[in-house]
Amino acid sequence: MAKVKYYYDAETLSYRKIERKKSTTIKYTAVFLLASALFAFLFVFIASQYIESPKERQLTRELQNMQLQYELLNKRMDDAIAALENVEERDNAIYRLYFEANPIPEEQRRAGFGGVNRYKKFEGYDNSQLIAESNKRLDILEKAIVVQSKSLDEIAKLAKDKEKFLEAIPAIQPVRNENLTRMASGYGYRTDPFTKARKFHFGMDFTAPRGTPIYATGNGIVKRADNRASGYGKHIRIDHGHGYISLYAHLYKYNVRVNQRVKRGDLIGYVGSTGRSEAPHLHYEVFKDGERINPINFYYGNLSASEFNELLRKASLENQSLD
Ligand SMILES: [Zn+2]
Repeated sequence: MAKVKYYYDAETLSYRKIERKKSTTIKYTAVFLLASALFAFLFVFIASQYIESPKERQLTRELQNMQLQYELLNKRMDDAIAALENVEERDNAIYRLYFEANPIPEEQRRAGFGGVNRYKKFEGYDNSQLIAESNKRLDILEKAIVVQSKSLDEIAKLAKDKEKFLEAIPAIQPVRNENLTRMASGYGYRTDPFTKARKFHFGMDFTAPRGTPIYATGNGIVKRADNRASGYGKHIRIDHGHGYISLYAHLYKYNVRVNQRVKRGDLIGYVGSTGRSEAPHLHYEVFKDGERINPINFYYGNLSASEFNELLRKASLENQSLD
């Protein structure tokens, strides 16, 4: 209920009612409403600068959660990079070294992507850097995995080649131990059985009865099986590739033909005494790049350590060769 206001009229000495014009009332009301609206607007405007709405609070939480998850993913990426680095280290220091391949330099392993800025699409946001950095690291990681994978392919191929190489080089004794009567003479200075002069004996002599089987000492191709070389009598030459040739001399009989492919341990002929020979024995030589080398260095395939030492001892005794 509206209050009725009075004023004291001194002329009439009485209280009189204050009459207000209707237009004035409307004016006051309008001003009041306008001021209220303005104040309300200002209040909401100022408050909105400092107070979050429930929707905003939710979005803020979403964003914080996303940033946290990105950080966790980056930590996991650290672990993945560390694991890869371990493999890379072994790759460079063991595998590649073992197979005589050059280590892959760090710059090559950690190369990112050059040229156009592939991270431009992430720009223009508060979290641009976080997203761009994470993507960059993942790109480098992916590339490093590809480099490592290619390196392992290369190693696998080198290992296969090495296996072939190891199968090819002359590495076993050409006559079985149980068939040997004695190891007559090794590589080095020996007395010539015919002239009695001291001269260098370029092979090893294995004394064994006539007809004792002789085995190929490595995989290869028979290049010669004839008696047209002076002194060697009936002899066989096997080309093993990689610069290695093995020679078997003074044979009684052949068991292979020229151009025949042989494997290590294949029976290629029999012990005899043809050519410049004093008694039945196998004269065995190994060539590397045209030079005759000490064949004893290759006997590991079918000999135990003690057998090898015994062979080494006998071979180094200076005695008369059978040639
Ligand atoms: Zn000899």
